[in-house]
Amino acid sequence: MAESKITKRSEDYSRWYTDVIAAAELADYAPVKGCMIIRPNGYAIWEKMQQALDRMFKETGHQNAYFPLFIPESFLQKEAEHVQGFAPEVAVVTHAGGSKLDEPLIIRPTSETIIWNTYRNWIQSYRDLPLLLNQWCNVVRWEMRTRLFLRTTEFLWQEGHTAHATYEDAEEEALRILGIYRRFSEDYIALPVIEGLKTETEKFAGAHHTYSIEAMMGDGKALQAGTSHHLGQNFAKAFDVTFQTEKGNREYVYATSWGLTTRMIGALVMAHGDDNGIVIPPRLATTQVVVVPIFRKPEERERVIQAVENFTAPFSGAGIGFKIDVRDQYSPGWKFNDWEKRGVPLRIEVGPKDLEKNQVVLARRDNGQKSPASQEDLAQTVLNTLETIQKSLFERARDFRDKHSYRIDDYSKFNEILDREGGFLWSHWCGSGECEERVKDDTKATIRNIPMHSEAEEGKCIKCGSRSERRVIFARAY
Ligand SMILES: [Zn+2]
Repeated sequence: MAESKITKRSEDYSRWYTDVIAAAELADYAPVKGCMIIRPNGYAIWEKMQQALDRMFKETGHQNAYFPLFIPESFLQKEAEHVQGFAPEVAVVTHAGGSKLDEPLIIRPTSETIIWNTYRNWIQSYRDLPLLLNQWCNVVRWEMRTRLFLRTTEFLWQEGHTAHATYEDAEEEALRILGIYRRFSEDYIALPVIEGLKTETEKFAGAHHTYSIEAMMGDGKALQAGTSHHLGQNFAKAFDVTFQTEKGNREYVYATSWGLTTRMIGALVMAHGDDNGIVIPPRLATTQVVVVPIFRKPEERERVIQAVENFTAPFSGAGIGFKIDVRDQYSPGWKFNDWEKRGVPLRIEVGPKDLEKNQVVLARRDNGQKSPASQEDLAQTVLNTLETIQKSLFERARDFRDKHSYRIDDYSKFNEILDREGGFLWSHWCGSGECEERVKDDTKATIRNIPMHSEAEEGKCIKCGSRSERRVIFARAY
């Protein structure tokens, strides 16, 4: 087992990030540049994310389906904005089965086109609506600059594609999903997010409008954590999908699409990790608790292990994911370090002296605190502690975000703060794409979104000084 050293966050944040991923054995580089091998520890987090999201989707009436990886190239051409947005990063198959294909096939970068081509056959009448489907799959986007989990050529995600009779129904759906993404981020990843509307420049290619949730990472940069698009009738028109209304007219169908990807694992690393490695929020940890028995002499070993077996007996029944580390070849100190860098939220230490007092020692991964706990009813104590950890991870991330959020009305100060520490800059914006572009050129900061739950407020655009009705969030982003 190779010892892996983790660079300090304060020294080099981006090296710290890759070191943490290596130390926790989450992912590896692949032979093809930009691709990624997700190792079992990383995949286990993804599976937990999938389970939570999948349950929320199904509770709101969605079903899973699967559409093919290959899409006829001509499909992409049918929606003008969509092709413009995606053509530069599409991988194309020109040969297969030993010969040149009549029509090249693209490897899906997203599935609107093939799904709406199919919906034409499935949707005839208002009775067929709404149609609420989701698929779990991989997609390929040929990225020039890649980073493990955050931006990879191939990634895993879920993509929802729904069809509705009215604009209002589609809008309600787009917002419902945005709410699910927010609850998922906050309740599972312990990551506070801001819901809002993307600007015209930043919206999805082919959408009427796009909503996003935006989170702050540990270096003050923003990360777009999930997007929900109201597609209007754009794809229905491109693929000629109409339905007969209750009154007997024919109308084009309204659509939404929405996605959340494996980049959330990168978000989890950057939101909660520390100089000792990743910290996995209890609700996404497969191993929530590790028990490290401590002993010197063989006769101690037997007594300690026996006690461990007794007090962990109710754990499985209580729904606690746990491991007992009985590897004799390693010292307790080595084991502590090993489980810390794997991000296990809670460690239970127990030695001969603890047995005398009928207690154990609980060590929290999130803040390093150690405290004694009785062996009686330990499962309940553990469950409570895991909940406390989950809650305090969220609060810590929220406090960090609030501490690095500023209301800025002066452009020189805007630059200065971005260079010094990053963060979310709440500034006024007149609504023009030109100002947005110029700010980006000057400072590398983009408008993350136009927050939905912020007060209207008169002000002047940070760039041009024209009238503005509300503040938006500017930040440098992943
Ligand atoms: Zn302006």
